[in-house]
Amino acid sequence: MKARLDRAAIMSLIAPPTPMTRDAVPPAAGQTRNRIVQVGLDLPLANAFDFLLPAHLHAEVGSLVVVPFGARRLVGMVIAVIDASDVEPSKLRSIESVKINLPPLSAEILAVFQFCANYYHAALGQIALNALPPVLRGVKDLPDADPVPLLVSISAAGRLALAEARARGATQRAILQWLDTAPQTAVAVRQRHPTAMATLRRLRDQGWIEMLAAAGPVATPGDVANAAQFPAQVVQSLAPTLNVEQRAAVAAIGEAVGNAHSAPRGRYQAFVIDGITGSGKTEVYLAAIALALAAGRQALVLVPEINLTPAFLRHVRARFPAHQVAAAHSGMANLARYSAWRRAHDGRADIVVGTRLAVFTPMPRLGLIVVDEEHDASFKQQDGIRYSARDVAVFRASIAKCPVLLGSATPSIETLDNAARGRFTRLVLNDRAVACAELPVVGFINLDAEKAADGLTPSLLRAIDETVKRGEQAMVFINRRGYAPALVCTSCGWMPECHRCSARMVFHRAAKRLKCHHCGSEARAPSACGECGATDLHAAGQGSERIEDALIAAFPDRRIARVDRDSTRKRGSAEKIFAAAEKGEIDILVGTQMLTKGHDFPNLTLVGVVNADGAVFSADFRAAERMAQQLMQVAGRAGRAQLPGRVLIQTRFVDHPVYQAVATHDYAAFVSAALTERESMRLPPYSYLALLRGESRDGAKLDAFMVTAQSLAQSVDTNSAVRVWEPVLAILERKAGYVRKQLMVQADTRRALQQFLGVWMAQLRAADARAVRWLLDVDPIDI
Ligand code: ADP
Ligand code: ZN
Ligand code: ZN
Repeated sequence: MKARLDRAAIMSLIAPPTPMTRDAVPPAAGQTRNRIVQVGLDLPLANAFDFLLPAHLHAEVGSLVVVPFGARRLVGMVIAVIDASDVEPSKLRSIESVKINLPPLSAEILAVFQFCANYYHAALGQIALNALPPVLRGVKDLPDADPVPLLVSISAAGRLALAEARARGATQRAILQWLDTAPQTAVAVRQRHPTAMATLRRLRDQGWIEMLAAAGPVATPGDVANAAQFPAQVVQSLAPTLNVEQRAAVAAIGEAVGNAHSAPRGRYQAFVIDGITGSGKTEVYLAAIALALAAGRQALVLVPEINLTPAFLRHVRARFPAHQVAAAHSGMANLARYSAWRRAHDGRADIVVGTRLAVFTPMPRLGLIVVDEEHDASFKQQDGIRYSARDVAVFRASIAKCPVLLGSATPSIETLDNAARGRFTRLVLNDRAVACAELPVVGFINLDAEKAADGLTPSLLRAIDETVKRGEQAMVFINRRGYAPALVCTSCGWMPECHRCSARMVFHRAAKRLKCHHCGSEARAPSACGECGATDLHAAGQGSERIEDALIAAFPDRRIARVDRDSTRKRGSAEKIFAAAEKGEIDILVGTQMLTKGHDFPNLTLVGVVNADGAVFSADFRAAERMAQQLMQVAGRAGRAQLPGRVLIQTRFVDHPVYQAVATHDYAAFVSAALTERESMRLPPYSYLALLRGESRDGAKLDAFMVTAQSLAQSVDTNSAVRVWEPVLAILERKAGYVRKQLMVQADTRRALQQFLGVWMAQLRAADARAVRWLLDVDPIDI
């Protein structure tokens, strides 16, 4: 089964790119009025810059243009076409060129950019340009990539015509004969026969060939060798019969998705898919996607990490072999990313799967958004414009008039609060989907009673031993990479610190290096103390590398694999380890939070948790929530199939509410306790926060800036609906040589906060604020 593109789509694919005819129209005789366009640029300075639009160029709102800026040339997006500019005519410069091969961005996606610009108080151009794939941000011409692997095959009628020698013309015959041996991509045909485009069109009109969108991975033009393999990749997998809870969820979502005949097509509604680990949320997403596709619409799926995209892509490719699928994440090569984006923008890709940046993919037929693991912190961009892809997704659904699904076994407190207030519809999946699969039994190993060697207690080692002896798999989770978080001189207590950050250097033993996990600085691991010269340096504490070493020492004959950012640096290596684990080729997995998300290992029955206590002492009011989510997710890896699972947590604080919630699988109880606490302290979701983050190499300049910012904030008249706090040092006081401070503002309502921020930001930009680097973080998640 493969998709049949409609005629217009095929024509547009095989036709060579032609400039828009309007561009070729010469200026009308006697036309005197100059057209002026306002262009958004990736600059914080202003929302829009005015340029003259030369008469021979055509641009409209949403067009991408190249403009001169100082001595540079920059790419910008047309925000408005206007009649008159405030800028003196002699000072106006002209647009250089318009990216004519690119249809303008849609009103829908522009509205999303505008929302982000307003809500996060950034310039529209900054938002828009940062949301585009890198290829589009360059001033070079667009690559002439044929982004869709179109598969051309001979039809039964074509074979007959060939047999009866009815095909006229040598090219027609040659192409038919070639296709008779194997289907080929359109690109391959074009490479072999330069005039093939016209011929293909004729052959298709006669019904002698079929041109289908191949549902394989995106092939680049050079990727001809793979052409014949596409049919083999089209594997139909059967969907399981949904259980009662899943069916109820899909039915509710289906109402909002609508169908091809309903008018309006669909409607906005936000659903929380609150389903325990292994409850079959993925099946609900897939069924909802099927409904959207059946209604002729596109679906957008956001996952929290790049390494979760391959698994989801596999799911949708297997389930929807007839549909075009595109990936969107920063790990893709530039051209592949652009061509996937382009297929979505042109409406050819039916399903887009990606990380947070995918929320900005233009999709003209958008009919469903899925945010998997919606609680995950990685949906919040942590540098540059600090948007929350989850929140943007909800807004985008409201503009596109389609449902959005926020799925998680541990929904964020904000999301559950939105459900409680009736803004979101909560759909609950209470049981594990696989028959007999039970939630794991959670036990504790008290570190006050039992000593750990290299991070592992004898009890945990014994449990691992029993598990692998039964032929099952074990996993050890530690939320820290490297060998040890510090080196310590046993004589004088000296610990190497990063010279650019207020942080200790992490010891990476295999690489024999010290690394700063904040700024990336590295140095050779010293053999002697930098203070007293003693050679007795001791590795203090544990990281994933050390736990791996300890496991190898304890189980020399077992197959052990480590998963963290260091061990999976190479593209595809995480994917390889996960595939091996799924096939049962690994006995013990050890790793960081990369292990906790999404993956389904049916044979995994034991999860050990090492070194989780750190979060108990954190100053961040969200630390407990994050810890609860992480532990419930990691515990959820155990016992997902027929075999019962077990979780063992090594801790000094058995009675801590987070651990008790994990032990009783009662996330709801944890949330309601957390909500009570936050209400009494007027913390989110009972108030709304924004953080001004400033940094400078010069501490005095930074202080002056923060004081200015504070006094400007205090002068804004807010009817005391907004509270301005004192500037304080960030938790990481110094990073990469910059001193860091932050100033918190807090409001009772979102509206009050937004009104305040609008006034405050305008004043701050007007004040000479370029002495320091600063940014505004609306709805910060780390404080
Ligand atoms: P979640 O995403 O909620 O953690 P998954 O969607 O990964 O859970 O489902 C867990 C397991 O249950 C998977 O192996 C999946 O194939 C299986 N599953 C899901 N729904 C059903 C169903 N209705 N019947 C049988 N198995 C199911
Ligand atoms: Zn020393
Ligand atoms: Zn550093």
